[in-house]
Amino acid sequence: MRILLVEDDALLGDGLAAGLRLDGYGIDWVRDGEAARHALLSEDYAACVLDLGLPRRDGLEVLRELRGHGRRTPVLILTARDTVADRVAGLDAGADDYLLKPFDLAELQARLRALIRRAGGEAAPLLRHGDLILDPAARSVSLGGRSVSMSAREYALLLDLLGHKGRIRSRQELEASLYAWGEEAESNTVEVYIHHLRRKLGPERIRTVRGLGYVLGDPP
Ligand code: CA
Repeated sequence: MRILLVEDDALLGDGLAAGLRLDGYGIDWVRDGEAARHALLSEDYAACVLDLGLPRRDGLEVLRELRGHGRRTPVLILTARDTVADRVAGLDAGADDYLLKPFDLAELQARLRALIRRAGGEAAPLLRHGDLILDPAARSVSLGGRSVSMSAREYALLLDLLGHKGRIRSRQELEASLYAWGEEAESNTVEVYIHHLRRKLGPERIRTVRGLGYVLGDPP
């Protein structure tokens, strides 16, 4: 799953990107409002973390335009603007959540999980597929009640597939989930990690749809 991080503070952005990558998300990081606007209108993100005070274009303006285009990307505003009027303006502009700086990374991570879960129509915090359970809060995976160890990339790939259950994910979409902009993916990476996942979770779970990609079909 890909998240767009919009933050002009280099130190904070760096820490946030690193923290969120640990949760298995692919992070695209932009540092001004114009780049944010372009990314949000041209790409499909699982969520966006949006600072408001930005060079070139204010975050609120970007958000209003995004909603004006009918885009439903879940947006969490992360800002130092702390008056009630600011919060009301942010939520009324179309934000789904609002978190004040300074903040705790664990809280931001939990709020993002909740946003992404709700956007996917899920109320339960665990992602399930038959006897396979992924717990995003604990970053753990179990199969038939037994814990399964996963590399960071395997976990990120499984998280993406579970977040798009029943929908075919192209290799490009899965690659985007695994790598940030500018990070070079090797040509067969997705195939390699799918192979690993099948070895760990059973061969039937992830189906190949020839020429289109991969899908989590009915649980075996
Ligand atoms: Ca700022």
